[in-house]
Amino acid sequence: MSERLRTRHLHRFEAAGKAFLYLQSAAIFALDDASRAILDLLEAEPRSRHEMQTALAARWPTDELEESLDELVKVEAVAPVDQAPAPMPKIIPLEPFPLTTMVMNVTNQCNLACAYCYEYGEDKIVETANGAQPKFMSEETATQSVDFMLREAGPNKVVHMTLFGGETLLNLPVLKIAIPYARQRAMEAGKRVEFNLTTNATLLKPDVVDFLVENDVAVTISIDGPPEMQDTFRVFRSGAGSYDVAMPKIKELLRRHRTKPIGARVTLTSKTLDVGRIFRHLTDEVGFREVGFAPVTTSPDRQYAIEDGGFDTMLGQFRTLAEEFRDHALENRHHAFANVKDTLEEIHKGANKAYPCGAGLGLIGVATDGQVALCHRFAGSDEHTMGTVDGGIDRERQAEFLDRHHVARKTDCRTCWARPLCAGGCYHEAQTRYGATDAPNLHYCDWIREWTDVCLRIYGELAERNPAYLARFEGRVTDEASQAS
Ligand code: SF4
Ligand code: SF4
Repeated sequence: MSERLRTRHLHRFEAAGKAFLYLQSAAIFALDDASRAILDLLEAEPRSRHEMQTALAARWPTDELEESLDELVKVEAVAPVDQAPAPMPKIIPLEPFPLTTMVMNVTNQCNLACAYCYEYGEDKIVETANGAQPKFMSEETATQSVDFMLREAGPNKVVHMTLFGGETLLNLPVLKIAIPYARQRAMEAGKRVEFNLTTNATLLKPDVVDFLVENDVAVTISIDGPPEMQDTFRVFRSGAGSYDVAMPKIKELLRRHRTKPIGARVTLTSKTLDVGRIFRHLTDEVGFREVGFAPVTTSPDRQYAIEDGGFDTMLGQFRTLAEEFRDHALENRHHAFANVKDTLEEIHKGANKAYPCGAGLGLIGVATDGQVALCHRFAGSDEHTMGTVDGGIDRERQAEFLDRHHVARKTDCRTCWARPLCAGGCYHEAQTRYGATDAPNLHYCDWIREWTDVCLRIYGELAERNPAYLARFEGRVTDEASQAS
């Protein structure tokens, strides 16, 4: 009797009336009717080729079935039952690659006191092994960081420099030195720096807007929506809401800064989950052309933590916006929902991740004292340091980190069909939830898989009905830090 076959970890979805497979190689495979019938049979139970031919003989000739089956075996959608799963492909070599993004925390101070921000900073310390961590990055550390960034960028011609806080604009004097310095030094090195600055907008005075415009700095505004949502958590120390202070300044920035994207970045909590209302407000009423959402990073016992029912609400609202995005894309019209655009771009580029993000790989965070961290969220945490800007990256520590965090070590993720896009999720979230950066974020698997399915369907529909739209993603570089908070 010939060997029995079964399906591998794959995901089937339908789009534009056609059937597709999303494979562990991150490839998308269109299914003909015979392949669909084969998969239906094999998903019910493993069978031999002969059994399948017998079951399907009335509908397809043997040679046609054989051809479809060979194709499914070739793309590793189907494999013999007793064949051990192939070892995880070395999707990304276990080696660091040159720096693409440096996120510089110019201060760890903030003029707001957002409840969720305090919590996710709990792993940070003010005292490090080298002494007290300064509240503000010095001019000297900032210029050293720039030199470090250009050195570590190796052959990369373009480097992304993200200015971050605390509230970034509290250290305006250092920004005014670091940005022109980076531009000058990059030019001398035959490179170009793309700047992005994250702010809560409350300090965006006219002279600051002038500075951002003149220096071509893209801006990400942290904002949670209309007044009743913004003022729930994004408050001053006095408890007063920040909406009325931030909003006129945001509108002025949007009116005057036209050369670079100005994006809104929303933190969703159990109390502020009306994604549709937030989106309409920020686009139609305020004028943002890019709005991205991220669920709050928190331990589950917090009042504002999003739990199961909340994830369902969020998914329903994301789906509605994603379908709206699709309808716009079919007519080549812009739509501001950044989450779907970012995922479509990853799908189009065949993202096949061994690591969830660029942290510690091509992306590095720098703390106010010049300590090099995994990413901006770990900046200031002694435990996750990766060197210093004057001493360089600690390669041994980085290699150990990459080895320990490779997705091949995450048992649940190895057999998950969403692994090519998720790879276990944010290390900082894992640290907050499970106390370990190498834990997979299993609390949000259902949400990740369902959201990935939504995006795959939209991708399939665009690929069938307006492939020219997807061509815009070719050659674009994704800046991991711009997607993170
Ligand atoms: S964290 Fe969950 S959804 Fe993500 S790859 Fe792992 S098992 Fe899959
Ligand atoms: S996903 Fe998490 S670990 Fe990765 S860069 Fe973003 S905040 Fe850092």
